Amino acid sequence: MITLIYKILYKYFTRFLSTEKIWELEIKLGYVDGLGKPKKCRKCGCKYFQTKYTDIMDGGLVCEYEYICENCDSVQGVWSYGHWQV
Ligand SMILES: [Zn+2]
Repeated sequence: MITLIYKILYKYFTRFLSTEKIWELEIKLGYVDGLGKPKKCRKCGCKYFQTKYTDIMDGGLVCEYEYICENCDSVQGVWSYGHWQV
């Protein structure tokens, strides 16, 4: 029941919420973990992701990569310089 409220909030009211509140909701709904790492696709619910490196420095140090849903190909998270961004 409570999950349903979160789902409705997430679907229709995110434009009224702060980034922190949206993140809180995403954690509660199981889309991301506490660090913002994607756990479940927001679009289709798939739990499998592909990693796509988008920024690699000379020498092979990865600065940025994307988590892409294996099922629907949408970007579900970006890891950049040590942090997850939604
Ligand atoms: Zn998906």
